[in-house]
Amino acid sequence: MTSPYSPGTRVWLDDSEQGWVPAEVSSCTKAAADTFTLVVKDENGRETTHTGAGSSLPHLRNPPLLESADDLATLSHLNEPSILHAVQTRYASRKIYTYSGIVLLSVNPFEPVPMYTPDIVQRYRERTKGELEPHLFAIAEDAYAAMTFDGKGQTIIVSGESGSGKTEAAKLVIRFIASPKTAQMNSDKNSFVEGASQVEQQIQATNPILEAFGNAKTTRNDNSSRFGKYIQASIALRSLLWPRLTRVLQLLFDTNRLIVGGRVRTYLLERSRLSYQAKTERNYHIFYQLCAGLPSERLEELGLDTDYSKFHYLNQGGPSTSELSDRDKFLAMRDALGVVGIDAAQQTSIFQLLAALLHLGNVSVTQTRTDAIIEDDDASMLRAIEFLGVDAAEFKRWTIKKQITTRSDKIATALTASQAVGVRDSIARFVYACLFEWLVSAINESLAGRYGDAASRAETYVGVLDIYGFEHFDKASAFPMQAFQLCLLDRLSTLSQFNTYVFKLAQEDYVKEKIQWTFIDFDDNQPTIDLIEGKLGILALLDEESRLPLGSDASLLQKLNAQLDKPANKAVYKMPKFANAAFTVAHYALDVTYQVDGFLEKNRDTVPEEQLNLLTSSSNAFLREVFDVALHRGSAEAADPPSPGGAVSKIPDPGRTSLVGFTGRTASVKKPTLGSIFKGSLGTLMDMLRMTNVHYIRCLKPNQHKTAWEFNSLQVLAQLRAAGVIETIRISTAGYPSRWTFEDFSRRRYYPLINWREGPTLLKREQFKRICVLVLQKTSINKSQFEMGETKIFLRNGVLGTLESARTAK
Ligand code: ATP
Ligand code: MG
Repeated sequence: MTSPYSPGTRVWLDDSEQGWVPAEVSSCTKAAADTFTLVVKDENGRETTHTGAGSSLPHLRNPPLLESADDLATLSHLNEPSILHAVQTRYASRKIYTYSGIVLLSVNPFEPVPMYTPDIVQRYRERTKGELEPHLFAIAEDAYAAMTFDGKGQTIIVSGESGSGKTEAAKLVIRFIASPKTAQMNSDKNSFVEGASQVEQQIQATNPILEAFGNAKTTRNDNSSRFGKYIQASIALRSLLWPRLTRVLQLLFDTNRLIVGGRVRTYLLERSRLSYQAKTERNYHIFYQLCAGLPSERLEELGLDTDYSKFHYLNQGGPSTSELSDRDKFLAMRDALGVVGIDAAQQTSIFQLLAALLHLGNVSVTQTRTDAIIEDDDASMLRAIEFLGVDAAEFKRWTIKKQITTRSDKIATALTASQAVGVRDSIARFVYACLFEWLVSAINESLAGRYGDAASRAETYVGVLDIYGFEHFDKASAFPMQAFQLCLLDRLSTLSQFNTYVFKLAQEDYVKEKIQWTFIDFDDNQPTIDLIEGKLGILALLDEESRLPLGSDASLLQKLNAQLDKPANKAVYKMPKFANAAFTVAHYALDVTYQVDGFLEKNRDTVPEEQLNLLTSSSNAFLREVFDVALHRGSAEAADPPSPGGAVSKIPDPGRTSLVGFTGRTASVKKPTLGSIFKGSLGTLMDMLRMTNVHYIRCLKPNQHKTAWEFNSLQVLAQLRAAGVIETIRISTAGYPSRWTFEDFSRRRYYPLINWREGPTLLKREQFKRICVLVLQKTSINKSQFEMGETKIFLRNGVLGTLESARTAK
């Protein structure tokens, strides 16, 4: 075996601070059969000796030509240091986007960048992905083009840690899709609203609303999304019979992109935040916006105050100054409510409900020796029940007591103060979650689409999935949100379509160039999916335990261990050695340890039956409507666009399951647990994704301090690993990552490697291919390492590196 190393070979050396540092081989000697001894000199001239074989020796560095390639898949030496280096070098020159096969990597700049102006939007229109600098607009355009081509729905999946830029990316994609096609807009103001159609404006208006109600300040991100979101823009195609013709027609006649509607689906809003916030974190933005934005007489009517530290639900995170922007955001949010058709009267009702929740949180519960007590004249309670439209005595009764049904009788027993506070908080969380559902539903009604002249149109869509992110080093994981995200990633990686898609683009070229090609298999992670979602999996056991009156976190863990800790699950389920109230699951890209503390309570999180009956028969008509919509998804159903006349495609619904946690009529409330809601929404989301083409944006957070342009190699590396970026590239490069036209390869680049009679300018077209072959022979490239197509030469991973070294050596 010959060594890939020789004096001068560029390599990477391990470094505890930076991950790796560049170095060069000074000498290479054969130690045994496959073993070599290298002497390597780093940039400071320090020499080290390395003996080993294969991958235990230092990684090879790419030729300078490739070091900051647009697409990592074109790297010749595809190893971790090279990938990290490319992303870092690009970021240092203010290039935040890099392709990685079909995935777009996006590194958060943490400051506004001039990359999203209307003229840049226009520049990326109708251009293919490779034509311009990597950009998320290119991904959006790619999705749009794929959709117009075959009429199939498209989904752009945005993933990454908290604060990495997912929501910003998702907004930009939607903005791109929903921007008017012609540049009628005011370019210096960066405004996209001018010239946008009503539907386009409505789609964009969903952001300020959902962010106000579903985002909050956390330690990681001042505007962290606490729910998952799938938003789609529905686009009408003139005819699906001749998609190509349709495309031509659209180019010719439409100044607009024919967006006819949209739809938003949300997943698992974090409910606990409503009643509890960790230090330095905040509740949902809307509460602060309300206090900062309402005129003083309205504040007074609602019993609110610009000083919100009076409210238990707003002051637990410690003193946090009301940001000036809360007021501006409030005004923008209110305008947005108007745009989606939520009128002034409804807005007033919403604000009143929010005020009710803040007062509810201030209801004081004290404790006698045995019972919980709420004073009859508790001012906060009186305000709360007034706004909620429920009877004071009944409300109080079912907050401090609980009903037990025996065989013959119903008995009310006293709760402790802390249990009563638990009931109080569960009501607040429940009402808020329902209000959130109602908003989503109202938004969907306004986005439902107009089909006046659409008889000859079929409808398809581009959707964006923004799932919440977590830190790779978060040890105690937040169930169920994090589990949801990780399970989704698990499923995505098994989605056979993903794999097919990885190869699709490459393959088109192979077929066109008549290259021999067979599919490559790789691991899937069905075992993890079964472990979590299977018949006797984690979710099933959790649900079972939640239904037992005496169920506890500890007994849950016992059952999990008894059921799952067996040889067949060895690779996916582990009992950690040191933490005793936890279990570890091997997800797609990383192992996660879940602490079982509070699992059961979170899974149950339900309001007592008696309170529920009280609330759903409230005298507040708006609140009744909120429940009606949230509990039955009534208007969400009604919002389904009618199937356009003679149309072919029907938009699948990514999340029909009610996430509030109830299905069926309230009269016979069936209460699914969070676990089963989780399973249901994951299932419907996956079904929907299966029907679409998927595109990926992977957001990376370059540092923990939100500092602009600071790049911490080790942290980025951890994210690249966790995201499976390296694995994905390995898959995408299983074929022939480098492809060159014969002319580029021969005349433009490697001609100097051979001795040819004439100079490069005199070369004839018919000679290009012949010269390519000679170059490969001369550099002893094995036949298995390349393929000659009709007009292009295809090279395996690594070949370009060899050629480049030969070229520099010349
Ligand atoms: P979470 O999972 O917590 O919701 P996220 O991934 O959605 O996090 P974002 O809210 O999108 O993160 O981004 C966090 C912050 O980073 C933004 O508020 C913004 O300040 C900055 N940021 C993100 N993307 C960009 C960008 N493309 N240009 C400029 N700043 C950005
Ligand atoms: Mg977000």
